[in-house]
Amino acid sequence: MRFESTFLRELPVDPETGPRLRQVEKACASRVLPTPVSAPRLLAFSHEMAEELGLSEADLRGPFEPVLGGNEVLEGMDPYAACYGGHQFGNWAGQLGDGRAITLTEVRTPSGQRLELQLKGAGRTPYSRRADGRAVMRSSVREFLCSEAMHHLGIPTTRALSLVQTGDQVERDMFYDGRPKFEPGAIVCRVAESFLRFGNFEIFAYRGDEDTLRRLATYTIKHFFPELLSPGKSPGPDEFVRFYREVCVRTAALMVEWMRVGFVHGVMNTDNMSILGLTIDYGPYGWVEDFDPSFTPNTTDAHGRRYRFGAQPRVGEWNLAQLGNALYPLVGSVEPLEEALGAYVEELDRRQREMMLKKLGLTRWDEDEDRFLSEEVFVLLSMVETDMTIFFRKLADIDFDPSLSPQERRAPLEPAYYSPLLREPDYFKTLDRFLDRLGARVVRDLAESGRSPEERRQAMRRSNPKYIFRNYMAQLAIDRAETGDPSLVQELLELLRRPYDEQPEHEEWAARRPDWARNRAGCSMLSCSS
Ligand code: AMP
Ligand code: MG
Repeated sequence: MRFESTFLRELPVDPETGPRLRQVEKACASRVLPTPVSAPRLLAFSHEMAEELGLSEADLRGPFEPVLGGNEVLEGMDPYAACYGGHQFGNWAGQLGDGRAITLTEVRTPSGQRLELQLKGAGRTPYSRRADGRAVMRSSVREFLCSEAMHHLGIPTTRALSLVQTGDQVERDMFYDGRPKFEPGAIVCRVAESFLRFGNFEIFAYRGDEDTLRRLATYTIKHFFPELLSPGKSPGPDEFVRFYREVCVRTAALMVEWMRVGFVHGVMNTDNMSILGLTIDYGPYGWVEDFDPSFTPNTTDAHGRRYRFGAQPRVGEWNLAQLGNALYPLVGSVEPLEEALGAYVEELDRRQREMMLKKLGLTRWDEDEDRFLSEEVFVLLSMVETDMTIFFRKLADIDFDPSLSPQERRAPLEPAYYSPLLREPDYFKTLDRFLDRLGARVVRDLAESGRSPEERRQAMRRSNPKYIFRNYMAQLAIDRAETGDPSLVQELLELLRRPYDEQPEHEEWAARRPDWARNRAGCSMLSCSS
């Protein structure tokens, strides 16, 4: 493994090292070492991620275990915390920064990719503010499993290499009710090309530090968007606009992917928005189960619901507007930035259409008919309590053979409903009308595309996952992990590696959320405490 640190080498670094709390000016990062823990123990790791990094299980269980727990730093590693700011719930929050995340190093993988290894929960940094720099087991299990689940769903995300139990207790007031409890601590080693956020740029713009802003933007383009550079020329206004446009387009793609699988991030502050368009910072996220565009898993946001499921694309745009403001000093005029932000809306629209075609099992957009079907399907999902994931998955099993009765035709959808539908005649009328129109549309599309019904069904299954990481599943894995038993974490990791496959031996994980989880903390409601 080759360690390097382009971030520290090429960008201004805080002259002071160590975790003393401070405002860090004119610097992108501060050198700080992880604080050792009592008894680091590897609970789980991602085989794919380890393999990509060229690490074996023996490496991880042997020499790497103390590194992943923050107790050892290998020769060549130069750990640091990054400085960033952000807009939280619509307000500028000033300096935030990596308060408990410490980047150990960048590595060059055997296949030549440059990746960053970062420990989350590794102890205090200059950016820890009033907090302890640690993370609890419950939030670490959630981040570890969900990042890998998202990856296997094909959704851009930061990854997770390992989950380590620290052997220390961490005090948290989980419900913010003045009754803190001790909980087991944990550390996740996250992996990404970069963890840069919108907030890394915003902070320098807010401080009027154009020089550091320019250096950071130049660094970012050089390393992560090299195709935007003209040879031998340092980036100027045109390149910065193209960079911004690329972030807009990637963010649009990400928002549509979240909508496709029913993922709700929960805290879309600009410090939690990746400059590479990755899902980043898994906190009080959740998955839409009974379809509801106003759903938010985050109890801290329950009142305003700023970050509810259906609002995510708009919030993405608002956040991008903040990034645009931050990059303005490098561009010098508003119009090209506004135009780039317009590309976000266009990309969102285009990708949404594409997504709906795939979810419905169609191939070419027909403005009149497919607009209707795409809207009507969500009307249906809202009419009675319906599991979004199961509904779309089962839609592929509907047989449009005209000799079937309406009851026979809609039978495959039965498992998607949270309560019996005996007294919902209006719903059935709407559903049957929808299926009539979809059926006619499918017949026409099969003829035009030359696909067979079986090819259509297989294609739909690649867009409509069977297995998602439902919150109650996370909670079950956490309950066991907190006793030191990682077996369910490992089982779910294995399950979620193939979310689009039928896995008949795991049918129970494809079912509706059980009733006990409807209103249980950790299952439908999560606080930011982590
Ligand atoms: P979040 O809302 O989790 O994305 O966190 C917002 C800010 O709070 C970031 O700067 C985090 O690094 C910081 N933070 C959250 N939890 C802790 C903690 N336990 N210790 C130190 N900093 C934290
Ligand atoms: Mg964060």
